[in-house]
Amino acid sequence: MKFKVFKCVAVLYLAVCSSVLAGEQPGLQRISDHVYGYVDIKNASPAGNSFGANTGLIVGRDAALVVDTLVSAKEADRFLADIRKVTDKPVKYVVNTHYHLDHAWGNCQFVKLGAVVIAHANTRPHIAEAAKTLANPEVFGLTTKDLEGTTVQAPTITFTDSMTVDLGDVTVELRYPGPTHTNDSITVYVPKDNVIFLGDILFSRYHPFLGEGDLDNWQKVLVELQGTPAAKIVPGHGPVAGKSDLEAMKTYMREFDTLARSLCSGKSAQDAPAIAQEIIRRLPDQQRSELPKLVEFNLRAKYLPQPEAKK
Ligand SMILES: [Zn+2]
Repeated sequence: MKFKVFKCVAVLYLAVCSSVLAGEQPGLQRISDHVYGYVDIKNASPAGNSFGANTGLIVGRDAALVVDTLVSAKEADRFLADIRKVTDKPVKYVVNTHYHLDHAWGNCQFVKLGAVVIAHANTRPHIAEAAKTLANPEVFGLTTKDLEGTTVQAPTITFTDSMTVDLGDVTVELRYPGPTHTNDSITVYVPKDNVIFLGDILFSRYHPFLGEGDLDNWQKVLVELQGTPAAKIVPGHGPVAGKSDLEAMKTYMREFDTLARSLCSGKSAQDAPAIAQEIIRRLPDQQRSELPKLVEFNLRAKYLPQPEAKK
C-alpha cells in the first residue's frame, strides 16, 4: 500500500514536471539574523530543480543546521555552494521536514561532510522505501543525469514528539503535530529569530499535495499554528508566509475536500480529468498554481476508487 502511495507521488511529480518549464534558481535569501533560505522558487521549477521546494539554513555560534536538502546530490551541491557564501560554520545537522524526495534526497552530500540527519521516527521507513525507486528516476520526471551521485540517506537520529537542537546561542525546536501532509511532517522553529519552517504542512501559492494527507488533523494543526509566536513562516513551497496564509490553506483544503467528495461520488478513475476541471473552476481564488494534473492526481489518490492492480 505504501509503495502504491509512493508511486502515486511519483505520478504527481511527473505531472508537475511535464507541465512546467525550467526556472531560474536564485541564491539563499536572508530571512532573519540567523536564518537563510531558498524561498519563493518560481512555480516553473522542474523536477531536476527540486520542484520548487524551499530549504533553510540556521547558523549558530558553533554550528549550522539545514532544513531539507532538495532532490539530488547535484541540487545539494548547489545549496552547499550557496551556504558557503554566507557562513563557514560546519553544517553539523540536517533536519528533514518529511520524507518526500524534493526535501530529502540531497541528504547524502551533507552526510559526506559529517552531518547527522534528524527527522521524525516515521521518516526512516518511508526513506528506506524511497531508496528502492532511485533506480527508476523517470517515474519522478527525473533523469539519470539529474540523480548522478545521489544516494538516499535515512535519518540516524529520530524523535516522536519533540526535540531541541542547540547550535550555540541559537536553538532549534522540532515538533511533530500529528499526521498532516504526511505522517512524518514536522515543524522547525527558531525562537531567537521568530521564524518557523512548516515543510509541506503549508503550501503558499501552490496547490497542495493532499494524497497522503490526514485532512481533519491537518486543518486542526493549521488552526493551532495560528498561535505560533513566529512572525515569519516558511512553507515547503512558495513565498515566506504569514498567519493569514494558514487560514487560507485551511479554507482551501476544506473547499477542495467538500467539492471532491461530492463530485467524485459514484464516479470512477476515468472521470478524474473532467472532475479536476470542474473543481478548478469552482475553487476559491487564492492565486494558487492550479496544475490540472496535480488536482487530478489528488482526486485519483484520495477520492476515486483505485483501478484494479494488474496481476
Ligand atoms: Zn511533500
